[in-house]
Amino acid sequence: TGARTPLIAGNWKMNLDHLQSIAFVQKLAWSLRDANLDFGSVEVAVFPPFTDLRSVQTLVSADDLPIAFGAQDLSAHDSGAYTGEISGAFLAALDARYVIIGHSERRQYHGETDELIAAKVAAAHRHGLVPIICVGETAEDLETHGPSAVPVAQLRIALEGVVAGSEIVVAYEPVWAIGSGQAATSAQAQQVCEALRAVVAEVLGDEAAAATRILYGGSVKAANIAGFLKEPDVDGALVGGASLQLEEFASIVRFKS
Ligand code: PEP
Repeated sequence: TGARTPLIAGNWKMNLDHLQSIAFVQKLAWSLRDANLDFGSVEVAVFPPFTDLRSVQTLVSADDLPIAFGAQDLSAHDSGAYTGEISGAFLAALDARYVIIGHSERRQYHGETDELIAAKVAAAHRHGLVPIICVGETAEDLETHGPSAVPVAQLRIALEGVVAGSEIVVAYEPVWAIGSGQAATSAQAQQVCEALRAVVAEVLGDEAAAATRILYGGSVKAANIAGFLKEPDVDGALVGGASLQLEEFASIVRFKS
């Protein structure tokens, strides 16, 4: 992992309303402080629903909490007649640092294509947001094409949206591991994350590849996080289900202790 600060990102999906979000983030910060977490050695980020972002921003800035936040999606457009969409400009105005792009649930339930995902990456960069670009194969893809072919192809297209010099985070999330309780092995995660880093090197150069954090996601919990983080090309985790359980998530963040 070297100079890449590990990132533990909690994707809440469609859970916790704005009041619940405040209670959760406050308790998370207390729990991590009580445990004397070295906030310089790991970055913590939460991804609440859009309607919670203002509340989380207010809490984080008022109490100066060492917790980053971002959105679960954004529009490829900046403004205009796009009913129901949320612009990167709005997210930037709320001090969001990150935005998740191309989560498998967006691809599956909302028909998001690799081309749309590339357009969303460009939109994130236009507004100074760091996109967390999600890629991953289904069980069927794995059987047909092997472990890295599909995520590598997805990432190649997504990177077409990158604005040169802007930061990205990549998340390898095998669809068969998401919410299934069946995490990839750390060796499987390493194999694909290494292949993804090679794609970043090929498209954006070696320096960008060395600086880019690549996360693993899919049934991460306190019991398996340390194994993933020991791998040289795994720089953190995108956590779904376990990010809603306060003590479990705090334990994942404290994977070193
Ligand atoms: C996710 O959806 O990003 C995810 C990793 O979910 P889970 O941790 O619940 O498998």
